Amino acid sequence: MNYSDSARITSVLKNCGFSPVETIDEADIIIFDTCSVRQKSEDKVTWKLKEIPTSKKVWITGCMIQHTMRNNKISEKKNIPEQLRVWNFAWSVTTKEPKILWITSDEINELRKWEPDIVGINHAFNPLFHSLSQKWPNIELFFRIDDTGFLPLMLKRLGYEVSYDKELTNEYSTIIPEGINSSMNNHNKTAYIPISSWCNQFCAYCIVPFARWLEKWFPVDQIVREAKIHLANWVKEISLLWQIVNKHPDFITIIKELLKLDGLEWLRYTSPYPTYYSDELLKLHESEEKLCPHIHIPFQSWSDAVLKKMFRGYSAQQCYDFIDKIRGLKRPISITTDIILWFPWETDEDFNETLKLTEYGRFDMIYMGIYSNRPWTFADKKYPDDIPYKVKHERWKKLNDVLYRISEENNKAEVWNIRKVMINEKWNKWERYWVTDNMKQIVIRWDNNFVLWDMADVKIDKWVVFKLEWSIVK
Ligand code: SF4
Repeated sequence: MNYSDSARITSVLKNCGFSPVETIDEADIIIFDTCSVRQKSEDKVTWKLKEIPTSKKVWITGCMIQHTMRNNKISEKKNIPEQLRVWNFAWSVTTKEPKILWITSDEINELRKWEPDIVGINHAFNPLFHSLSQKWPNIELFFRIDDTGFLPLMLKRLGYEVSYDKELTNEYSTIIPEGINSSMNNHNKTAYIPISSWCNQFCAYCIVPFARWLEKWFPVDQIVREAKIHLANWVKEISLLWQIVNKHPDFITIIKELLKLDGLEWLRYTSPYPTYYSDELLKLHESEEKLCPHIHIPFQSWSDAVLKKMFRGYSAQQCYDFIDKIRGLKRPISITTDIILWFPWETDEDFNETLKLTEYGRFDMIYMGIYSNRPWTFADKKYPDDIPYKVKHERWKKLNDVLYRISEENNKAEVWNIRKVMINEKWNKWERYWVTDNMKQIVIRWDNNFVLWDMADVKIDKWVVFKLEWSIVK
């Protein structure tokens, strides 16, 4: 998601006359597009800030900004100037030309002389701005990702000369990053298109609903329009994004409409939610070659007790049934999943249930998320972390061992299969590296007959854990 957000920021800034550069050395402004899913992601921002030369300006956006926007104390104060009561930029946005309110860090220090107990104060966007900018005065701007469309106005307010020829928008989703690389693989043949915003699920451990607010579904025609623009710019693969991507009420229509578009080679989506899958969507995986034969399905746990504590809204039996349905399709589908390790109060029995389903699911990959206590969440308030370190380590090792063994067995079964790959940029002098249509990593020995970005059918002739090698290109 951050790649897609960053592409939108780049697109707006390019239109303001800024140019993206490759390295920090070349940059005048460094923008952090942050994640808050784990505390470690936020800690990385402060570590990184230490490395940025103070001569360079820093802007920060993303989830870390949005979940720290709590400023109740200031709005309760009686003698605070009226305009400072606006605690969030988005709340002041009623027109396409919103009034931008904020005060500088120095002004906050002045205010503190007569209101010493102010703990959070509005910098138009975030109280955290004050504490961080005291330490790093080169931090110039915090902005909510949803306010990306208003960057031209913010920059003018900061004194930048900006000429922006697009319509200002308070609908972040309508910013189409035309010709901007939104891929995490540093190439421009994949476009990541968000189809909804934020999440209402409130899983007990998750900060997303607090960081990014409640969900909104984007219209089908807007999504199709964005896809057409990317395909006209030679994109070949589209990946639809959101937290519960298949909850969009028109998800099937979106898939069907995109599959009709010229130039599309691969269509993927992430992340779906188990209970929002329809049989129709599974059938499309069977019948539509361009809908990739891979499903990433974040089960998180396979113990009923843990799933209940997590507020996931499904049972372990539903996970088994879902896997059976996928395995029952005529087209083989690779399955990957997420699980949360060390969820508080997870017993050995709970963990063994998870191991059992891991065997049953024969997942090609399990993305193991180590539980991280996040502020505001139900788990933060009600589930203290009670799992001893030794137990955590043993569980991690057991799950990893099963994952390795199953990956080996699955990859061995791929030998002699023909798979579609996209020829990617050079990884090193001899090899290229990409994923297959069923989302397995593949190492490709370079051949001068290759055409970069072509799709090729390859025969798998060698496997190692988590990786395949191939021999023939048709
Ligand atoms: S579905 Fe649950 S885990 Fe996923 S973003 Fe929403 S609240 Fe978080």
